[in-house]
Amino acid sequence: KSGYVGSKYVFYDEKLRSSVLKEQELAGEMIAALEGGQFVPYFQPQYRYATGRMIGAEVLARWNHPAKGLLGPTEFIPVFERNGLIATFDYYMWEQACRCLRMWIDGRGVEGAPRLSVNLSRADIYRSDLCTYLKGLVERYDVPAELLHLEITESAYMEAPEQLIGAVTKLRAAGFVVEMDDFGSGYSSLNTLKDVPVDVLKLDMGFLGASASSRGGLILASVVRMARWLDLPLIAEGVETKQQAAYLASVGCDYMQGYLFSKPVDRETFEKLLEGTAVE
Ligand code: C2E
Ligand code: CA
Ligand code: CA
Ligand code: CA
Repeated sequence: KSGYVGSKYVFYDEKLRSSVLKEQELAGEMIAALEGGQFVPYFQPQYRYATGRMIGAEVLARWNHPAKGLLGPTEFIPVFERNGLIATFDYYMWEQACRCLRMWIDGRGVEGAPRLSVNLSRADIYRSDLCTYLKGLVERYDVPAELLHLEITESAYMEAPEQLIGAVTKLRAAGFVVEMDDFGSGYSSLNTLKDVPVDVLKLDMGFLGASASSRGGLILASVVRMARWLDLPLIAEGVETKQQAAYLASVGCDYMQGYLFSKPVDRETFEKLLEGTAVE
């Protein structure tokens, strides 16, 4: 139409076409995959650095695809967000989390059960039945709400802040612990922090890097200090090296999650980790 028929344009066109096809194929498989239990929770432990005690774990979704193997969430979460199934999917993951909590409470007592952080997507926050659903879920599994931590990514805080503040306030009143995920990744972090009453901050090391001499290191130290002033626990995630961990600890960050300690692992592997660690 435009007169551009150069191979470059044809190439991009083909690429786009094949990614659309790939997405349609995945989208078509998703409902059956949900019903067939192909989506599984993986667990990435979080530790108090000073003692090495586990404080909890983040639940991260994986798709055990019969043909493609284990797929990570970046391959299917965006598809769920576009095809409108994300709330169904997230509800499913939260239920898996509650099911595990129930088992661990039965096996280890409530004191020995790790708290679990689940991820919420932007669309979940704006559903009017979010809090009712979550309350019903923890009641059904007879799990204390404070063991289920809700991670809300910072980018979800951009639109409709009043609605978000309302949702977070309601969730906290119901006993859930609300964590601001990816703190510092966007432009609105400080503004959001000022207005939204969260309980915990999660800071991704990928955004800053950490060495004492770099500007990133100085910013990191200031963020840790700010969190302490605000009396908000801060979990550094994406901690990959001993140097990063030591630096974080030296500036007063108590809690860490990352490949240095453990990758996200399946339930059986996580339960073995649990056996070997004290949980606080
Ligand atoms: P996130 O919530 O920021 O989760 C942290 C991501 O960092 C995870 O990627 C984790 O595997 C990865 N990670 C952990 N430690 C390290 C490290 O030391 N270095 C590096 N480079 N990466 C590390 P993953 O599992 O691929 O998940 C990606 C994103 O998908 C998550 O980012 C989260 O936003 C989303 N997600 C995962 N599960 C769910 C879910 O059930 N529902 C929703 N709505 N989103 C989910
Ligand atoms: Ca998260
Ligand atoms: Ca994060
Ligand atoms: Ca992230």
